[in-house]
Amino acid sequence: MRFDIISVLPGLLESPFAHSILQRAQKKGIAEIHVHNLRDYSTQKQKSVDDYPYGGGSGMVMTIPPFAACIEKLKAEREYDEIIFMSPDGERLNQAIANQLSIKDNIIILCGHYKGIDQRIRDIYVTREISIGDYVLSGGELPAAVLVDAVVRLIPGVLSDETSALSDSFQDDMLDAPVYTRPADWNGYKVPDILLSGNTPEIEKWRFEQALERTRQRRPDLLGE
Ligand code: SAH
Repeated sequence: MRFDIISVLPGLLESPFAHSILQRAQKKGIAEIHVHNLRDYSTQKQKSVDDYPYGGGSGMVMTIPPFAACIEKLKAEREYDEIIFMSPDGERLNQAIANQLSIKDNIIILCGHYKGIDQRIRDIYVTREISIGDYVLSGGELPAAVLVDAVVRLIPGVLSDETSALSDSFQDDMLDAPVYTRPADWNGYKVPDILLSGNTPEIEKWRFEQALERTRQRRPDLLGE
């Protein structure tokens, strides 16, 4: 799977992709992540990529030409399944969306800044708009990194124990069960006996009940309650 991320601050995206699971996925050749500096596509003096908003008001608006040039170049090289704009007014990212995207081949992600991007970029090029939550960040880079992480860890072969993604919260509309590791007794705080029993069917049953209880308490909306 290939991601092409278009950003005016590519440096913001270096670290998230250079560690841990995202780094491993790239090393294994399962995911390719390319970050493109929007300024390289500006034909303006000083490589500017924004301008004053028509109609007045505060905040600068990102212009069409650099985005168009970068997107057109990429589209001439390969076909893209989605061109995603990270935006607080997009559909809210959830596990179902991450699952859908994890079976795609090529995705472009546009990162906005300032007041946002010229609406016509969204009208002409963007196929999907995704928000990471009901709050406003200063740029689309952190949201893009969140999206890529959520998607890449679902691609088969990325996590060493694949079933661990399947039992995570939100798969099956349930939160995850509590987890424990050694020591079994820490200053009197004990691990539930059942987990030390070696009785796998009973442990699975316990985990399911715990997950259900936790979901009921914390996120009854997931159960339709
Ligand atoms: N004026 C815009 C916000 C601009 S914030 C509005 O009110 O909708 C600048 C950029 O940061 C956005 O274009 C978007 O790319 C990114 N961004 C900010 N918050 C985000 C969020 N919750 N989810 C996804 N992207 C976000």
